Amino acid sequence: MTPSSPASAPPSIAERVAEVRARIDVACRAAGRDPHDVTLTAVSKTQGPDAIDAILASGQRVFGENRVQEAQSRWTARIAGLPDLELRLIGPLQTNKAADAVALFDVVETLDREKLARALAEAAMRRGRSPRVLVQVNTGAESQKAGISADQADALIATARLTYGLTVEGLMCIPPAAQDPEPHFKTLSALADRNGLAVLSMGMSGDYEAAIRCGATHVRVGTALFGERNRR
Ligand SMILES: *Cc1c(COP(=O)(O)O)cnc(C)c1O
Repeated sequence: MTPSSPASAPPSIAERVAEVRARIDVACRAAGRDPHDVTLTAVSKTQGPDAIDAILASGQRVFGENRVQEAQSRWTARIAGLPDLELRLIGPLQTNKAADAVALFDVVETLDREKLARALAEAAMRRGRSPRVLVQVNTGAESQKAGISADQADALIATARLTYGLTVEGLMCIPPAAQDPEPHFKTLSALADRNGLAVLSMGMSGDYEAAIRCGATHVRVGTALFGERNRR
């Protein structure tokens, strides 16, 4: 017996990427959607350089990170060599990190208060570089979770656009862990429709197919691509 028979080897990152991409395709076709309309955001938080090398080799270029400093250390040295890289901030942002976030990220998915809209607009002005923005909605009204409440989302979207001139492209949510995510995805989709927003970032490793059924344009997948995360 060989010590590492293929049957027992864990799937490589390339195999995991292929599997997730195939499942996205199937979910899109089942929903009558074009797979090109769904972007896979690889959530690279906590991953080491070998995992990043491997997933880049598979062609993946869109990444989600939830901490600014950690993202800087993972990506700053790589950016110059990756002209088509897209970095998306998917974790909570403090106003005192707005300038660093504007410098690094193409998209900030976690706008959830006016004070942060102001900080992002000021940082963008100074830097001469404006990230696109999603408004994070706390669809489950969980007190410990970031995001604006669903009934205040319209107002924040309008303020971010009209008062602060931000490019609000869409909405993001993280449904409560123990609930059926679909009602949350549908709430987010309805909110986006009535505000004329095209981008819906929803769905993670456990529920991205359901999110695609409900209209997700961006799914944020970590574990299913990289395996269980290293502890911080
Ligand atoms: C970590 C994280 C993900 C990815 O979660 P997985 O279950 O590992 O796919 C998605 N979205 C956000 C906001 C995250 O923080």
